[in-house]
Amino acid sequence: MRSITVMNQKGGVGKTTSSVNLAAALAKMDRRVCVIDLDPQGHASIHLGIEAFDETPTIYDVFAGARTITTARQMVASNLWVVPANIDLAAAEVELADAPNRERILDAVLNTPEVADQFDYVIMDCPPSLGVLTINSLTATKEVFIPLQPHFFALQGLSKLFETTALVRSRLNRDLRVTGVMLCLYETGTRLAADVTDDLKTFLDGSAPDAPWASARIFSTKIRRNIKLAEAPSFGQSVFEYAPSCPGAQDYGALAEEVIAAETAGTSMPLANAA
Ligand code: ADP
Ligand code: MG
Repeated sequence: MRSITVMNQKGGVGKTTSSVNLAAALAKMDRRVCVIDLDPQGHASIHLGIEAFDETPTIYDVFAGARTITTARQMVASNLWVVPANIDLAAAEVELADAPNRERILDAVLNTPEVADQFDYVIMDCPPSLGVLTINSLTATKEVFIPLQPHFFALQGLSKLFETTALVRSRLNRDLRVTGVMLCLYETGTRLAADVTDDLKTFLDGSAPDAPWASARIFSTKIRRNIKLAEAPSFGQSVFEYAPSCPGAQDYGALAEEVIAAETAGTSMPLANAA
């Protein structure tokens, strides 16, 4: 099972859109995929057609010890499940503050033989913060994907994000690595997008060999800005259900192929920043 944290403490960069549509693309390619919604806004759940009401099992119940991944998941399409979230999850940040092992709660429930038997991929859609929910995700998973919107301020905040992965790797999870950067909301042909991409490549190429991001690659598939991707959530559908042949579906399909290509290489993706 490959477990992936989709994180960036900035909002609006494409975390949820990428978590949902990459998951849906992988499911179409015969992988069994579970999306875990870690954002109290519940956008990934809603995007997948699940609005979590009071009696709906959610990830909050998993944090509270009242549910497991198996008993909280819901099937939303062939090969595709979600463990939903709603605003209840906002309370978890506070409630967990004094809990012993508060960073390892997801790790304990996710990395079990039972869960490993159920899924080929687990994708965690993080909230726009570096708080205890995101730390739980980093402690429970092996890979980090970072969605980035290539504009002038894109790289701002990235060092804080990278520092957080380094901290988690040294203190909580030796296996953690940043494996992929996804360029989202990409404006093809703009100078700025190309410049930001170059700056990022330079940064990654110059990283220390023991940094968690030392083998991170920028996916060669760029997710273009496409209105269908923005419309699909309000129908509770992935882009593959909503508009299966639009550019957004093509891009997430191509991204999934890149992700699958790395399966044979384990989590160590080839360095392909030259793409
Ligand atoms: P995050 O989860 O990082 O806050 P979202 O995935 O919710 O970001 O994206 C922010 C907004 O941009 C949403 O309204 C989403 O529908 C839209 N969006 C994301 N990616 C694209 C894209 N490639 N083209 C057009 N709209 C997009
Ligand atoms: Mg989101």
